[in-house]
Amino acid sequence: MTIETTYDAVVIGAGFAGLTAARELTRQGASVLIVEARDRIGGRTWLDHRLGRDLEMGGTWVHWTQPHVWAELTRYGLETTPSPEPERAFWWADGRRHEGGADQLLGLIGGTNQQFVRDSRKYFPEPFRPLARDDFKAIDDVSVQERIREQFPAGGARDLLESFWALNFNGPLDDAALTQALRWVALTNGDWAVNFEACATYKIVGGTAALAAAILAESGAGIEYGFTVESVSDNAEVVDVRSTDGRTVRARTAIVTLPLHSLAAVEFQPPLPAAKAAGASLGQVSKGAKVWLRLRGVHAPFVALGGADWPLNFFQVEYALDGDTIAVGFGPDAARIDAEDLAAVQAQLARLVPGAEVVAVASHNWVDDPLSGETWPMHRTGFLSTHLAAMQAAHGLVLFAGSDIANGWCGFIDGAIESGMGAARDAAALLSPHGS
Ligand SMILES: Cc1cc2nc3c(=O)[nH]c(=O)nc-3n(C[C@H](O)[C@H](O)[C@H](O)COP(=O)(O)OP(=O)(O)OC[C@H]3O[C@@H](n4cnc5c(N)ncnc54)[C@H](O)[C@@H]3O)c2cc1C
Repeated sequence: MTIETTYDAVVIGAGFAGLTAARELTRQGASVLIVEARDRIGGRTWLDHRLGRDLEMGGTWVHWTQPHVWAELTRYGLETTPSPEPERAFWWADGRRHEGGADQLLGLIGGTNQQFVRDSRKYFPEPFRPLARDDFKAIDDVSVQERIREQFPAGGARDLLESFWALNFNGPLDDAALTQALRWVALTNGDWAVNFEACATYKIVGGTAALAAAILAESGAGIEYGFTVESVSDNAEVVDVRSTDGRTVRARTAIVTLPLHSLAAVEFQPPLPAAKAAGASLGQVSKGAKVWLRLRGVHAPFVALGGADWPLNFFQVEYALDGDTIAVGFGPDAARIDAEDLAAVQAQLARLVPGAEVVAVASHNWVDDPLSGETWPMHRTGFLSTHLAAMQAAHGLVLFAGSDIANGWCGFIDGAIESGMGAARDAAALLSPHGS
């Protein structure tokens, strides 16, 4: 094995965490190489041309309550554009379909949700320091489903609340951590409606691709595509990162930004400590689907919320296109629907919006994709108290980052950027221990 260059840092993964970490380190004069298995940057964000226009196949919406991503938009002069305000709403509650105004649906969800998230600031008074106080440990084994069922009697209000949270977690609720829901809403000061706005309203003009490209362009880091990491070996002086096709990159430190569900495919030498390995194998609950639908003809903007256990339980109109309408849909379990099967998607939409004809669909199965294995990370019961700190900890010269283990907007682009900033700071300290 001949190695000609020893970089200051090798960054594994070119999602927002990796791109940010690489930029921050090169700005401080470090030599950095990013290695990325895919042939593109962006990771779980991917602006692709489908159904006749550019569509976000993964992460999309950003908000001014998300300080790290907002600062990046300001830095690069990128604007946001709102999704259309829904005029109509369709929902499923009490075993039947309902139709009304969007405000009516939001009012119904709010009726229970504000009570459900009431304690968010009590447990997470400083939302970017989720481990700052121990109180949350008393409820870290409680699932969202358990708390909802204990708080609200069976009926339409509970149906809506469960479906709303299955949407937020992009997964089933039986092991979705109540603490994850509460720390999330604490980020918008306990206001669930602002939180919902943050998650599904403002898109980046030029797409997430514009922001990712801007970060890479400012960075002086090199990037090697098609480099699927199979092992990371730390001999206490340098780290060797090896690809499945036999390439090796050597650096003084490595930053690993892989999603929890793709971490286990990488062999670490020395092996990861038990607590870290356990956190990776526990994984998280967000294993759902996102699908784009082209609907025949013009539809006034609508929002639709089905049952919590439906294969697709949420739809929202996003664009008008050449006399047709483009809507987006989500469901909590990618294994229960082939989101590229037009008939299957049509059948789900028809349960809520009769008469809407789907003429084409587009989706990426992030759960089946070994480079992600999940959608947006939403943690299981017990993860916060038992695994978060271990997942964030350095392992010798190897540092860890990524949206999955962020402190604040964990599960979001903002969390990826926050965590990439932190890893770069730690790597700089490793590279220059005396601050020279
Ligand atoms: C369907 C969907 C919808 C979402 N919606 C939103 C939203 O609206 N707003 C929001 O803020 N967030 C959203 N998210 C979440 C957001 O996109 C992610 O949290 C964030 O982009 C993750 O960034 P990251 O850098 O931590 O990880 P990733 O983007 O996953 O980056 C990790 C990188 O590592 C690479 N990699 C994996 N394994 C290997 C390997 N062995 N060797 C080399 N490289 C490897 C991957 O290819 C990837 O590029 C959504 C995500 C999905 C999937």
